[in-house]
Amino acid sequence: MQLIDTHSHLFTDEFTHDRSEAIARAKDAGVSGIILPNIDCGSIQSLLNTAAENVGYCYPCLGLHPTSVKANYQDDLKCIEEEFKKNRYFAIGEIGIDLYWDTTFINEQTEVFRYQLKLAKKYGLPVIIHSRNSFNEIFSVVDQEIDQNLKGVFHSFTGGIYEYNHIMSYKTFYVGIGGVVTYKNGGVDKVLKNMDLSRIVLETDSPYLSPVPLRGKRNESANLPIIAQKIADLFEVSIEQVAKATTQNAKQLFDI
Ligand SMILES: [Zn+2]
Repeated sequence: MQLIDTHSHLFTDEFTHDRSEAIARAKDAGVSGIILPNIDCGSIQSLLNTAAENVGYCYPCLGLHPTSVKANYQDDLKCIEEEFKKNRYFAIGEIGIDLYWDTTFINEQTEVFRYQLKLAKKYGLPVIIHSRNSFNEIFSVVDQEIDQNLKGVFHSFTGGIYEYNHIMSYKTFYVGIGGVVTYKNGGVDKVLKNMDLSRIVLETDSPYLSPVPLRGKRNESANLPIIAQKIADLFEVSIEQVAKATTQNAKQLFDI
């Protein structure tokens, strides 16, 4: 069985002391690749170090996370764009709009999101979208920017059937399913049955969102089989079928 974790912040401080052990545990658990979405300019060096130490296993992505968008966002965008010229990246992410933590910079977040969607089209890369309390805002931007060159994933999807159908109407997008699918009041388990396995990718969002029964602990890619098993149970298929479909989806989306 092969699984791909399409969303891990393995390069952050939470893994400073045992990063290589966490990777060994992931490999033992059947995880054959890990996608690393960036956070901001300050995280690029550790992102690149982690990727360089694990070539062909950890795939770095570059973007400015919505919670890192402040008044000086133009400086951050400049550093991101400069970095694109220097190294190979597999996606633009993570990007999006987050209205859960702070709505002060909603206009800046929206502008930065749109700008990075345009960058993705320019570079022919998929996008990793973070949408928290912001589906309407995200949709109004993507509705305007969508074309056959824009593809990606709505990571840690927690919307309802309306949001799922809207994402599917883009034709070129997947939904990322993570630990929330195991939460009693997460709501994702109820929507999942209406989803198409050919549009789902797996993710942990490490170090966050550990699946039950590890909720509250630091998350890592080795927990991905718990999520795959939960999805298999809900679809009433084997975990191998979930692994095969989601791995194929992830490989196609990220070109790995
Ligand atoms: Zn993330």
